[in-house]
Amino acid sequence: MSDLDKNNERLVIVTGGTRGIGLAIARQLAKQGYALALWFHQRKPAESLLAELLSCGAAALYCDQVNVSDRASVVKALAALQASPYAVYGLVNNAGILQQKPFESLTDQEWDHLLDINLKGSFICAQLVMPLMRHKGLGSIVNISSSGGQLGGTLAVHYAVSKAGVIALSKSLARVGADNQIRVNCVAPGLIETEMTQGEISSSAGVEKVNQLIPLHRVGQPDEVADAVSFLLSDNSRYITGQTLNVNGGLYMG
Ligand code: NDP
Repeated sequence: MSDLDKNNERLVIVTGGTRGIGLAIARQLAKQGYALALWFHQRKPAESLLAELLSCGAAALYCDQVNVSDRASVVKALAALQASPYAVYGLVNNAGILQQKPFESLTDQEWDHLLDINLKGSFICAQLVMPLMRHKGLGSIVNISSSGGQLGGTLAVHYAVSKAGVIALSKSLARVGADNQIRVNCVAPGLIETEMTQGEISSSAGVEKVNQLIPLHRVGQPDEVADAVSFLLSDNSRYITGQTLNVNGGLYMG
């Protein structure tokens, strides 16, 4: 059985899958023939984008508005997928937000809001999706962390904490899922060119980071993160679980 034959029976959910890194992941998985469920939050994708993904090779495409930090919203989206003929094989917990603000002025509300999306959202999605995978006895979850979660940071302490939590969540869920052949891994990108990092990349601090701290001396592209995610979803990584794959040009070597 070729990968394409297997993939076109497998549904992968990508949260935040219609722009930035999530869209690059969706494009890559579409080319590999998976059926895709792409969840956006506020920005409904253009029909032309969905048509493009289908024409790339996606076996099927479902698109829904989901707030990953709201359990009821995730339950509703998963219920809608039950009618599809595809087994949920993969989950990419990619949805996330970044806020840069000095630690001294961070409010409780800002802390909770960011942690709710970046960390609790991954917990909720995994907790609801794993029983569907368990039913089939096979699955792969990839959580998107960040080098910020490995290095810490002064301007986004809550973000760093959320992304460190994503690494611990991945290791724990790898243990929870192992008996049912559900693998759980993490990808930790460094500085990747998306809307989220536009400001940082064009700032003098960003230029200095690229020149001084990133051994490969360039920012990364979303498709370079997608390559790592698609590897961890695929059977080529069948003996890999509980790991963090750094895609960061050498910014952090863990
Ligand atoms: P973008 O800001 O470009 O995209 C963020 C995505 O998350 C959007 O699709 C957005 O949906 C979605 N999203 C935000 N809040 C929610 C929510 N409550 N529920 C569901 N979806 C939501 O970011 P990137 O593509 O750059 O980042 C993707 C992931 O990669 C994030 O987890 C980020 O922390 C991580 N990362 C990024 C790095 C970078 O350098 N860019 C570095 C390290 C990690 P909508 O379009 O509807 O708003």
